[in-house]
Amino acid sequence: MERAHPDMNAYIAEDFIMDTLIEQRVFGGNAGAVCEKVAAMLGRLEDRMSRFRPGSDIWALNEAAGSGIPTPVGAETMLVLQAALSYAESSGGAFDVTATPLSARWREAAARGDGLAPGEEELSRDLALVGSGWLRLYPAMGTAMLEKKGAAVDLGGIAKGYAADRAAELYRALGAEAALINLGGNVKTMGEKPDGQPWAVGLQDPGEERGVYFGALRLRGGMSVVTSGGYERYYMIGGVKYHHIMDPVSGRPASSGLLSATVVAEDSMGADALSTAVFVLGRERGARMLAAYPRAEAVLMDAERRLWITPGAMDAWTPAPGYGDLRIYELNR
Ligand code: ADP
Ligand code: MG
Repeated sequence: MERAHPDMNAYIAEDFIMDTLIEQRVFGGNAGAVCEKVAAMLGRLEDRMSRFRPGSDIWALNEAAGSGIPTPVGAETMLVLQAALSYAESSGGAFDVTATPLSARWREAAARGDGLAPGEEELSRDLALVGSGWLRLYPAMGTAMLEKKGAAVDLGGIAKGYAADRAAELYRALGAEAALINLGGNVKTMGEKPDGQPWAVGLQDPGEERGVYFGALRLRGGMSVVTSGGYERYYMIGGVKYHHIMDPVSGRPASSGLLSATVVAEDSMGADALSTAVFVLGRERGARMLAAYPRAEAVLMDAERRLWITPGAMDAWTPAPGYGDLRIYELNR
């Protein structure tokens, strides 16, 4: 959000859920109670979908990996898993919720504190556990299974988007006039702001501290803006930052030449998966993937801090003060 233009008269709630800071801005109605209900709903989703919550659908699925026994999963988890498989396919495997053993390897290396990054041998062993092909879904039975022992699912690249879509539905159902929810950089709006202005969603400067924006997208209500970048969550090994988005081909943090990938679409779950996928694929392959998603627009920042913006997002783009000289190119798909 643009801090320079706070939305007056909005009720603002901040909570830490899904391992991230969640900000809600709600206009009209019983905003305080609405925020509480939405926060409770997000907590329930986390209880279902976090791989770190003992008893969650994903925890149980991972625990049973390689046992040959399908695990029951709730309808919402099934829906997110189905979407994850579809994005795995359309991204040629760049988006892969089974990249978990790789993330775990890099996290462990950081925790060990000996300054040693994972070696080729370790990574190739982990890579053998990665692949959406290990994940089997049985929607008619309401069950899922990981066929390989040691394989594991993490919905961190898509679940916040799903949660944002659900939050927007709930705002509407509870009678809020308009609302914006920001789940750690995963933004979705509902309704038009009472002041008649478009929603302005700030895009984080990857090289600056949190809350410094290089520009904003001005959007009508109902849109979602999701950014994936290497700057926010990372593992520190030997004084070097390794970020948390894995390239399922190399087994290493993705290094496709992008500092951040922002995707704009109504569907926040899709925008979440696409932003992660495009960040892994890089500008050219990412643009090719976006050809299959004509309702999604994108703003990419490359390593030279050049901006690549799809023609459909150009009108919405406004640079932040002091960023007027960013070089801007059309991102064609
Ligand atoms: P953020 O966590 O900042 O919202 P993303 O939406 O890009 O970022 O998702 C990153 C998370 O997704 C990681 O923390 C990890 O749990 C998982 N992940 C890592 N690499 C991949 C990948 N290649 N495909 C799908 N999910 C991934
Ligand atoms: Mg994502």
